[in-house]
Amino acid sequence: KTKSVLLWMKKNLLLELTVLAVLIGGVCGFLGRLANPSPDVILLISFPGELLMRMLKMLILPLIISSLIGGLSQLDAKESGKMGTRSLVYYFGTTILAAIVGICCVLAIHPGDYGIKQELGTGRKEKTVSTMDAFLDLIRNLFPENLVQACFKQVKTIFVSKEEDLKPLAENSTNFLTTVVTPFGNSSNGTEEAKPVRKLVYSDGTNVLGVIGFCIAFGIIIGQMGERARVMVEFFQVLSEIVMRLVNVIMWYSPFGIMCLIAGKIMEIGDLATTASQLGLYMLTVIVGLVIHACGTLSLIFFITTRKNPFKFFRGFLQAWVMALGTASSAATLPITFKCLEENNGIDKRVTRFVLPIGATVNMDGTALYEAVAAIFIAQMNNVHLNAGEVITVSLTATLASIGAASVPSAGLVTMLLVLTAVGLPTKDITLIVAVDWLLDRIRTSVNVIGDSFGAGIVYHLSRRELMEQDRERERLEASE
Ligand code: ASP
Repeated sequence: KTKSVLLWMKKNLLLELTVLAVLIGGVCGFLGRLANPSPDVILLISFPGELLMRMLKMLILPLIISSLIGGLSQLDAKESGKMGTRSLVYYFGTTILAAIVGICCVLAIHPGDYGIKQELGTGRKEKTVSTMDAFLDLIRNLFPENLVQACFKQVKTIFVSKEEDLKPLAENSTNFLTTVVTPFGNSSNGTEEAKPVRKLVYSDGTNVLGVIGFCIAFGIIIGQMGERARVMVEFFQVLSEIVMRLVNVIMWYSPFGIMCLIAGKIMEIGDLATTASQLGLYMLTVIVGLVIHACGTLSLIFFITTRKNPFKFFRGFLQAWVMALGTASSAATLPITFKCLEENNGIDKRVTRFVLPIGATVNMDGTALYEAVAAIFIAQMNNVHLNAGEVITVSLTATLASIGAASVPSAGLVTMLLVLTAVGLPTKDITLIVAVDWLLDRIRTSVNVIGDSFGAGIVYHLSRRELMEQDRERERLEASE
């Protein structure tokens, strides 16, 4: 008996170390707060964690490119089409459901009635981003005009009243580069009543959607070319193996990195008691919603489609889940998600390579749920009553905003602008909920990773017969040669 326990512990050593790291990080963080550490000390404590994030992020592009192209080149067009449709239906369906769960929770708990209350009638504001523009930006980004540029910039529509409004964006922020791609209209010069006009600008950040779009097309074509493209197929498959070996190395560093990340974060945040008293119920609403979605909706969908125990499946990717809690980024967790699903859950590489990179980029159930709750919470705080139509708008824009959110820490907070302006709520109120985002971000990211992993399991289950047929066909071909 002791031997089998020891064997189990040895097999799961990395997972144990990671869980331990989270706990130690938390305890050290709270103890460290008592000593009132200076910003320099906090920086040094967090530094090994920063290095972990940098290493993981460094792997994202090579991982996405090699796995998507390598994976798709092994599928025929019909198969990848079917798999793609299944994934998209799952992604869109579950994200909308997540937003609905969030809305039900926030309407039932009404956290906006307690804690901080805004001045009555802060009123509704004019739109600064439109839902249509956000949607068009998604499609624009899917078709980047320059592949190299897509690795670090994306296009974005913003509304400005005067040409001069673009200047502060250029001077004060690293987020917006001034390059105006297409002026959609002429701004009126200087008149007080100037109406905001659209400008298409470049914003910093990897356009992962664009890279994915290109890799899908590239991988499918390679797959169709057969023998002639063999060298390319091998190239990307070997590249993907190399990246996964790098992941193996980084994984053994990750517990230490996670511990430092968590300890540093806890020391850095402001007054916990005040925040908890003001935003406690709001946090509880988000967390309750996330738990219901992960343990209820997603687990049920997984069970109904695959007839497998969702909790057993979850145990297989537990390491990825803890990693998401530690890093608050589903992209940084992606390498670990790959490893867990392939090695522990036995999902075919052709499925993980195709489905996971796309899932980590567009499928963010936790983010959609969070944005829906936060938007309605802000409405409640401002005593703004949203009618049924507006609540539906919130659920749709939260879904859209989550698709557009990058898979990096706090990205959901930025895309919330869209949800708030879609129903005319004051965007400056985002600053009120920033204080607790360090925690909610981690939890929603871990639900994003659960959604991606269950999705891979479901798509694999639905596609396994066709994949087996494909294997048989290949074996037959090889035998006849
Ligand atoms: N941090 C989240 C993720 O990487 C995105 C978000 O901010 O909601 O999945």
